[in-house]
Amino acid sequence: MKSIRIPLLLLMIAALLLSLPALAEDGTEPADEAVNEGDGFYITPITDEIFARIYGKSFKEDCTVPREDLRYLHLLYVDLDGVEHEGEMIVNYHIAEDVLDIFRQLYEAKYPIERIRLVDEYDADDELSMEDNNSSSFNFRFISHTTRVSKHGLGLAVDVNTLYNPYTKIVDGVRIVEPITGEPYLDRDADFPYKIDHEDLCYKLFIEHGFEWGGDWEDRKDYQHFEIPTSVIEEWYPENK
Ligand SMILES: [Zn+2]
Repeated sequence: MKSIRIPLLLLMIAALLLSLPALAEDGTEPADEAVNEGDGFYITPITDEIFARIYGKSFKEDCTVPREDLRYLHLLYVDLDGVEHEGEMIVNYHIAEDVLDIFRQLYEAKYPIERIRLVDEYDADDELSMEDNNSSSFNFRFISHTTRVSKHGLGLAVDVNTLYNPYTKIVDGVRIVEPITGEPYLDRDADFPYKIDHEDLCYKLFIEHGFEWGGDWEDRKDYQHFEIPTSVIEEWYPENK
């Protein structure tokens, strides 16, 4: 019996070692690689299957952000009726764990979110996604007339409940509203669902995790928008100037 038991034990140890996550080439183990915590909240790299869904849409053909810098988040959320849904979001690897943690806390608090889909389901059309009150992050684009990638282009900004928390700015005396159907929700003293303000849990969680809120800007307002400060992004992407 002894001669059988020992090889069996060795086999079991070998199997256990093989099942441990492999270290990256530089010897570090990225904490957010293919984490599946079994509770509906997990992070994966951009697999071929996911890449096929986003290429030519949010991941434009001229995308300068490496696919390896992006992560796919699978998460759960609760709508206004308390119904649970599965959501998908793509963000930068630098913030993947933070964003997952924020949405996990929102879910646990039953914070209402109408939908969380990849913007690719709207052909990466921001206006259509916002009119549908969709929450999302990554959508590659350069800042107009520059070679700098925008914060959504880097996957370092997240928009939440976009119809009810529109973007607005006065340009040449004319008020711009995005989405255009979000105009009824520019009155931030009015009472309506999904409204983000300083008392809001979503606002508090993003701020706790180092984000800035577009509702705090002076020259324009972007009530749906949370982003990593420029000074931090310049450390992560010093070439993006
Ligand atoms: Zn935004």
